[in-house]
Amino acid sequence: MKWPADYHLHTPLCRHATGEPGEYAARAVAIGLTEIGFSDHSPMPRDDFDNWRMYASQLDEYVAKVRRAQKDFPQLTIRLALEVDYLPGYEDWIRGLAARHPWDYFIGSVHYVSDGWAIDDPQKISEWKHRNASEVWSAYFERLTKAAESGFFEIIGHADLPKKFGHRPSRVCTPLCEKFLNAAKKHDCAIEINTAGLRKDCREIYPSREILQLAFQKGVPITFGSDAHAPGEVGMNFAEAVQLAREAGFKKYCRFAQRKRESVVF
Ligand SMILES: [Zn+2]
Ligand SMILES: [Zn+2]
Repeated sequence: MKWPADYHLHTPLCRHATGEPGEYAARAVAIGLTEIGFSDHSPMPRDDFDNWRMYASQLDEYVAKVRRAQKDFPQLTIRLALEVDYLPGYEDWIRGLAARHPWDYFIGSVHYVSDGWAIDDPQKISEWKHRNASEVWSAYFERLTKAAESGFFEIIGHADLPKKFGHRPSRVCTPLCEKFLNAAKKHDCAIEINTAGLRKDCREIYPSREILQLAFQKGVPITFGSDAHAPGEVGMNFAEAVQLAREAGFKKYCRFAQRKRESVVF
């Protein structure tokens, strides 16, 4: 089988990943991938925003690293992208990032449901004790909907991230999730099937089977991503991801070049 492209790879610039882009590319070639995309955590205007992203001054260095891998691995298609945090109030900053380089795509991700707390940060896991899980999930989907409506993103990342450490809502959030998927469809956003969840406490691909089935029914397209933070994680669990996508009804995934979409049968 031809593997789908792995569109969610990090680099050591984000300060919690290991391995240079060339090592990720070598791993991709070794396991038979033909296309990958680097989408490291975008910088923020203030470098002390948190401690898990590149500094603003490193954006050009990041692009140079990806360009070097492209040159060293001509047999592999390597896309240039970013995983951009979506927070209200940062629209001009995101617009500025988009203008800086000829990106192939942006993954829009919600890690922050309120200022100062990233719901998936292992160092901030104790904050969950002070929060109501249902409220976090609601706030998350509200923000994810705004991310889809913003028009900044080709792809929305890990669309049910609050499950990472096993926190589930007591109320069913299907209506909020549907609102998000309707916005994704309307604004031409794909959602990613992200296998990193299998390596976390939730032991599940992001997003869940239920969300993927809804996405298929609504005509929201998909991409695949390992969210690799080390070369050995490239393409990890893609067999399970492909199977889940097929079971949800999908027969095609998306590729992006210069922010233009193309559908590929898998
Ligand atoms: Zn990360
Ligand atoms: Zn993320």
